[in-house]
Amino acid sequence: MNPILEVFSQGEEIVTGQTVDTNAAWLSQQAVQLGFTVSRHTVVGDKLEDLVLLLNDIAQRADCCICTGGLGPTSDDLTAEAVANAFQRPLQFDESAYTQMKDYFANRNKSMPETNRKQALLPQGAERIDNDWGTAPGFALQQGRCWFAFLPGVPMEMRFMFTEKILPSMNNRFSLKPSQLIILRTIGMGESDIQERIKSVQISDSVQLGFRADTDEVQVKLLFASDYPETAIQALVSEIAAKLGDNVFSIDGQSEIVGDLVSVVDQLMRRSQHTLAVIETASQGLIAAKCINASWLLEAQYQQSFAKLMEKWAIQVDTGDPMSTAKAVAGLAQKNTQADLMLVQLYTGSEQHYSDKNQSITLFSVLLHDGHYQQAIHTIAGPVKRKQNQSALLALDLLRRYLQSVHFAQG
Ligand code: ATP
Ligand code: MG
Repeated sequence: MNPILEVFSQGEEIVTGQTVDTNAAWLSQQAVQLGFTVSRHTVVGDKLEDLVLLLNDIAQRADCCICTGGLGPTSDDLTAEAVANAFQRPLQFDESAYTQMKDYFANRNKSMPETNRKQALLPQGAERIDNDWGTAPGFALQQGRCWFAFLPGVPMEMRFMFTEKILPSMNNRFSLKPSQLIILRTIGMGESDIQERIKSVQISDSVQLGFRADTDEVQVKLLFASDYPETAIQALVSEIAAKLGDNVFSIDGQSEIVGDLVSVVDQLMRRSQHTLAVIETASQGLIAAKCINASWLLEAQYQQSFAKLMEKWAIQVDTGDPMSTAKAVAGLAQKNTQADLMLVQLYTGSEQHYSDKNQSITLFSVLLHDGHYQQAIHTIAGPVKRKQNQSALLALDLLRRYLQSVHFAQG
């Protein structure tokens, strides 16, 4: 059985929704991978009685609790006081915490306000956790069943302290069996398509299957229990990957090349030493913007529409068939570039279609390489920003599919 962990976030700004509780999300991900079962997240505002009640409950029901926020110098920062009340551990002045805070201010040529003195008061018997990244020290203590760690709310300070100070303690205190997380990243299919394709795959109860749809990709997540055999992990991941085909662009935890689509394209382009020229319409400069600083992108031009593109190039290639036109444009444009790959994107649908979230546009993407064409057609709906983003991603994805097919074919 995995030890039970709770995350407890303190602050009025979190209960009222002004700050989104990213600390709890981040901490939970760390905890799950370490081998904890995360049972709850609780958020409490700046109210002493509520904090005291919650601390007492957690001390009875969890093995570990990470609490963030409320360690600051102001009157709304109540964590240490709440711990003192809940666990009958009077606050005690910690000389060393005080000196460190004074040094922190001195190093910045400031004198420490008297209000900060409060941060050097720690509950009796607590172990101080130095904060090398800010002022508020954290602290940890065992109370009842539970080992509590209290960290500052500022996400950057909290993450550093967790990684450098708390994680080693957790590994010592708990016998953890880390689970293995594998993420298949896909583009070109929705969550329900994915579900449909993999429904015949047998997945054991000790594997947690999850989906996450994001603006740029849909992830299939597989969390394997620590004792799940490696060969069985490989077999299951391969089976799912095969069902999803070349919609999978990387597998975190397995592929050699990992990351989001743009970073996968970047790595493939650098390895294969290709160079690219782009003509984009529907993505409105976003392909170039996504590839910022990529040395392999030799040129990118944006034309507002298909008609403007033709005008600019003084070309008469409107074949009446957008895909053939896109190919013809690619052929002509390649004569004027040093790049060996030419990516052209056209779309049909009026400007009004583009602006209207209830209308769709049809995207025609063509990649020209060594005299051969690779092509894709997609229908894109939704608000302007989504159309722009999807157009950029889907065109880059055509390039990615070509690069990966060559790469994989060569082994
Ligand atoms: P400080 O010394 O900065 O006051 P603190 O431990 O008292 O540290 P808080 O005052 O609770 O921390 O929060 C400081 C800032 O950190 C908040 O303004 C907020 O922007 C951010 N923060 C706090 N808690 C969270 C959280 N759970 N998720 C994301 N951000 C948070
Ligand atoms: Mg504060």
